[in-house]
Amino acid sequence: MNLHEYQAREILQRHGVPMPEAAVAATPAEARTVATRLGGKVVVKAQVHAGGRGKAGGVKLAKDAAEAAAHAQQILGMIIKGLPVHTVLIAPAVEIASESYVGIIVDRASQRPVLMVSPAGGIDIEQVAAQTPQKIHRLAIDPRFGLLGHQALGLGFRLYPALSQARAAADIMQKLAAAVYAVGASLAEINPLVTTPDGTVLALDAKIVVDDNELERRPEIAALRDASAEDPSEVAAREAGLTFIKLEGSVGCCVNGAGLAMATMDLVQYYGGAPANFLDIGGSSNPQKVVDALQIITADHHVKAILFNIFGGITRCDDVANGIVQATSQFPLKVPMVVRLTGTNEREAVEILTKAGYAALTDMDEAVKQAVERAA
Ligand code: GDP
Ligand code: MN
Repeated sequence: MNLHEYQAREILQRHGVPMPEAAVAATPAEARTVATRLGGKVVVKAQVHAGGRGKAGGVKLAKDAAEAAAHAQQILGMIIKGLPVHTVLIAPAVEIASESYVGIIVDRASQRPVLMVSPAGGIDIEQVAAQTPQKIHRLAIDPRFGLLGHQALGLGFRLYPALSQARAAADIMQKLAAAVYAVGASLAEINPLVTTPDGTVLALDAKIVVDDNELERRPEIAALRDASAEDPSEVAAREAGLTFIKLEGSVGCCVNGAGLAMATMDLVQYYGGAPANFLDIGGSSNPQKVVDALQIITADHHVKAILFNIFGGITRCDDVANGIVQATSQFPLKVPMVVRLTGTNEREAVEILTKAGYAALTDMDEAVKQAVERAA
């Protein structure tokens, strides 16, 4: 689950990370009021679950409250990477002497949270990672001990030669690590971590992604979810109890089981297609889930063909077939559909589908090939 910058800021501030005071505004008038309170010279920042807001025009400096209101007017209602901006954060504009990067990401390879720092922070950090990876320094955090003082200080010196600044950065790294554990984050970033002309080290941006599996035992973090800022198809899927991730391709996939869903996506690619989504309808037998799944898949205009891949175990193929028939009688499909099912109650399923005028395949390769061809 993505948090907004203002939410991530509050968490980091609670952990003692130094950053300028700020407030959110939902209208230009509110932006003006907040900007006046903060001294007029402010930065106006789109609150949206996307990185690269600066480059997209979603971060703007204002010299006074009137300009802050004008920037807010422009930024509110912007669409950044497909997501609408409903609020802006207003923070006092800080004079920047240098921008660096500090982030922690849970890393599968080392099975640990990895702290990454770079003196080349700011809006081009992706470019730094791609072109000059030697400018990014990494340290895997041992979960038994957490981030130790001397480790943090070592990385602090990678950012700043001055002891006082290296210490300040190390302190921020330890607080960031504490926050990661406290909220169950899979990613926490400060970019930029800046120095001001007088030498102060400050966080000017905050990004936190919380691992969805951590939400059940952290209701206060789960309550931070802003569904209005999320992809509508992912919201609908979550509410229907489906595991769904929207992708860029044209083959809409409806599969039972996460492993089979991934294998299906791989096979779609293998045959030259691209999956439009990951979707696991789960192990239970419930025609309504199939109806919900089809509704979500067909709402995506990039989908040019739909592929069902069902391996009936606990999931009964006839339930899935009934779901398909129910769904297509409620909303006729505008794109071709290929159905592959095998396993529990396969014969009944084939009967149900044949009666409704749909072909049913049992071979996975054949089904994927057909779906890719039809989506082309
Ligand atoms: P992002 O592009 O979505 O990561 O948004 P950021 O909050 O990181 O802002 C992008 C860039 O705007 C930063 O790298 C800074 O260069 C600049 N910026 C943000 N806040 C301030 C500020 O208070 N003062 C100045 N001078 N620049 C700022
Ligand atoms: Mn940033």
